[in-house]
Formats: sequence, structure tokens, C-alpha cells
Amino acid sequence: MCGIFGVIGHPEASNLTYLGLYALQHRGQESAGIACSDRDVITFHKQMGLVADIFSEDVLSRLQGSMAIGHVRYSTTGSSELKNAQPFVVDFESGSIAVAHNGNLVNAHVLKQELEVGGSIFQSTMDTEVIVHLIARSRRTRIEDRIVDALAQVRGAYSLLFLTRDKLIAVRDPHGIRPMVLGKIKGGHVICSESCALDLIEGELIRDVEPGEMLVIDERGMQSSRPFFPAPAHFCIFEFIYFSRPDSIYGGTNVYEVRKRLGRELARLHPAEADIVVPVPDSGVPAAIGYSEESGLPFEMGFIRNHYVGRTFIEPQQSIRHFGVKIKLNAVRGVVEGKRVVVVDDSIVRGTTGRKIIKMIRAAGAKEIHVRISSPPTAFPCFYGIDTPIRRDLIAATHTLEEINRYLTSDSLGYLTFDSLRACVPGTGKGFCDACFSGEYPVPLEVQESDEQLPLFRGSVRI
Ligand code: AMP
Repeated sequence: MCGIFGVIGHPEASNLTYLGLYALQHRGQESAGIACSDRDVITFHKQMGLVADIFSEDVLSRLQGSMAIGHVRYSTTGSSELKNAQPFVVDFESGSIAVAHNGNLVNAHVLKQELEVGGSIFQSTMDTEVIVHLIARSRRTRIEDRIVDALAQVRGAYSLLFLTRDKLIAVRDPHGIRPMVLGKIKGGHVICSESCALDLIEGELIRDVEPGEMLVIDERGMQSSRPFFPAPAHFCIFEFIYFSRPDSIYGGTNVYEVRKRLGRELARLHPAEADIVVPVPDSGVPAAIGYSEESGLPFEMGFIRNHYVGRTFIEPQQSIRHFGVKIKLNAVRGVVEGKRVVVVDDSIVRGTTGRKIIKMIRAAGAKEIHVRISSPPTAFPCFYGIDTPIRRDLIAATHTLEEINRYLTSDSLGYLTFDSLRACVPGTGKGFCDACFSGEYPVPLEVQESDEQLPLFRGSVRI
């Protein structure tokens, strides 16, 4: 999972990108970077860590120019280290190019092998670098044609931003799996992962970048083309459930509204004899509000989240993850003591969070705990850019509902059904990738389902 942001036609391009990345920080906290062009050279700065810690006034003042792209990273292929931070900037025959990518390519390992046999040397262990090599090898002249040449060979999920000396180019894969929106600001254009980044810079949302669309923006204006074979849209449904910020507009609909709808549906499907509805903050809040409204049970903040701790998932080891839940959330005794509590969260992955928080509110005096999940069981890994564990580590892949309830130590457990999820998201029927729930992968995989999503680029290890 990653966040991308690009702007062209604004004198403060790097400052806007910095702000945009701030708004997209929830999409990745491992590393961040900005590349900027003053029409002569591309300058860039990237580092491990959070946006606020990486960019100082001094750094930003050195990123000169009216066009820039930026990236926040949450690795799904390639390890978490500086060489894999983006934007990825290279110099080749026709000039310099910077790339920022959100998504995962499913045939990158095959292409990488072929390129290496042909003499290519890779600097990183990211699938994104494959695209750069393919661009460099293309025989076409214009950069946009080279990009099309390269992308015609890759399969998978990509929302991509390219920055050359004088152009900003955006491409969304033919299924539109990962999000990308187009906006404007004072004569300039902005393209970014989520509309919340536009809100922060007081930009205006124009529309989604369409699946399979390529936008080329330079001083003459913007050109849109559809250089790939048309394919059915498969927007990631998990963006609605968990990943996008609730204030973002995704596929034309406010994410917060959809999450509330999911909560209402959950209350209809799985009512509970209870006293209060409590969200697992922050991800469960809108759904819990929906559940509360539909059930008539009061909404209470039974957990307080420490906002200075990173997402539990970012932690690399199981031992740290267990610890992470505890330092991230604490139960409010005054709220839950003696109560029958409905706990609402958006999803269960390994079950780590659920088990810990149930223990926590029982210790704080809750009488009964009824867990309600505003999505269907996550039973399949994502291979298109969301960090999920291998299949056997997904609790819903290997356990029945009853077994999960027992593992969590809850008094009851209810998930949303697949059909009710579909009914709550706009544009019912086709149009979404829901492989994490259904196992139906819109882009055929080249790895075994049971494989990890990370083995494509192991790279070397420096000790
Ligand atoms: P787990 O503790 O493994 O069951 O993870 C469930 C928690 O992680 C829920 O509170 C979700 O909000 C959150 N979550 C779900 N999917 C992801 C993801 N891909 N990355 C980070 N957190 C996630």
C-alpha cells in the first residue's frame, strides 16, 4: 500500500506535495520522498520514516520547480529500506525520470528475470524498477510512448505517476485496482491517491483517473488517452472498508458514508442484546456509528487510541505486533464496566487485535462482548498492493466462525455477508476487486495462492 501525489503548474510544487503526502500518510509510513523538476533538472529527496520527520524547510527549499511528485511507502514487494524508497529516479538515454507507484505487479518476477538475463542490473528490490527498465529499453521516441510500451508488458495493479523534466504523466491500470484522482489548484493540476490530499491543499476534485487512462500534462495542457485494451473495472473494495481515509471520495462516493452504511447493514444482519456500541478506533468508528443508529444502542468510545503509535501492521514481527495492540489502544473502564458491549471493527486479519482488545475490555469490567465486523471474512491474501499475510495466517482462511469466536474469546461474532457488502457499495454488481473475500482474482496470478506476496525480489542482505 502506498500513497502518491503529483502536481504541475504551481510555483510551490514541492510544498504542495509535502502537504499532500501528509494527508496520505495513512497509506504508508515506512519511507517518503519528493522529486521536483524546474524544467532543467530533477531534484529529489527521500528517506525512511514519516513525512514530518523527513522534510525540513531547508530540504523543501532545495526542491525547486513548478512540478513535483511524491510518495509514501508501505511495502508489499521489496523490503523496507532506503533503496526501495520512492520516487524512484533514474537517468537514461532520453533524460531523467522519476516514478511513484501504488500497486503490485503480478508478473514482475518473470520480467525481472528476463531483463537480468539481458544484462540489466537492478538497484532496488521493488517491482516498480521493472517498469523503469522496460521504459529505458523501449525503442519509441516520446516518453509517453515508451511508458505505454513498458506497461503493455506488465500485469497487475498500478496507479503510477511519472515526472520528466517537463511533464507529469499519470497512468491507472486497465482494471483501476488502486485509486487515483485528478484535481486542480490555481491553474495547476494535481493527481493523487485520495481526495483528502486535495482538501488539505485547497484543491478541487475533478474526477477519478479512469481505469486504463493515461494523462499527460505539460505546459500546453492535459491530454487523456486509453492506450491499453479495455478491461472490466475492478476498484479495490477494501479501500471502502479500511484503507482510504473516511473523508475521501472514492469512486465518486464518500468513504465515511459507505462505512456507516456497512455498520447499519451489520446491525440489521447481526443484532445484539447489548447496552452500548463501541468502535475499535479509528478504523471501526464510522461503522459503529451506523450500527448504533440502526440498532438504537448508544455509541460510546470504549477504547482510546494512542495516536503516536504506528499501525500495528507495520511492525515486522509477531512479538512486536502483540505488544503494539496494547500500546495503541486502551479500554475506558468507566464506559464498559458492567455493560454488554458490541465491539465494531472493519476487519479481522490474523485475529491479533481482536483477541487483545477483548481481553482488555473484559479486564475493564465488560459483562458481555459481541464482536461485529463490517466486512466479510478476509480469507484470501491481496496480491495487488495491500499488505496481507500469507493465506494460512489469515484466521478466516483456516477457522470456522465458531472457532474464530472462541479464539477471540467473544460472546458472539458476526461478519457482514458478501452480498450485503456488495449492496452497500455504490455501483452494485461488477466493478470491484473483492479477491480478499471471494478469492476471485481479476488479474490471474503467477504465484501460488499459498505463496507470500513478497518473494519476488528477495535481493541481497547487507549485514
Ligand atoms: P489483526 O489484528 O491481524 O486481526 O488485524 C485486524 C486489524 O488490522 C483491524 O483492526 C483492521 O482495522 C486492521 N487492518 C486490516 N487490514 C489491514 C492492512 N492491510 N494493513 C494494516 N491494518 C489492517
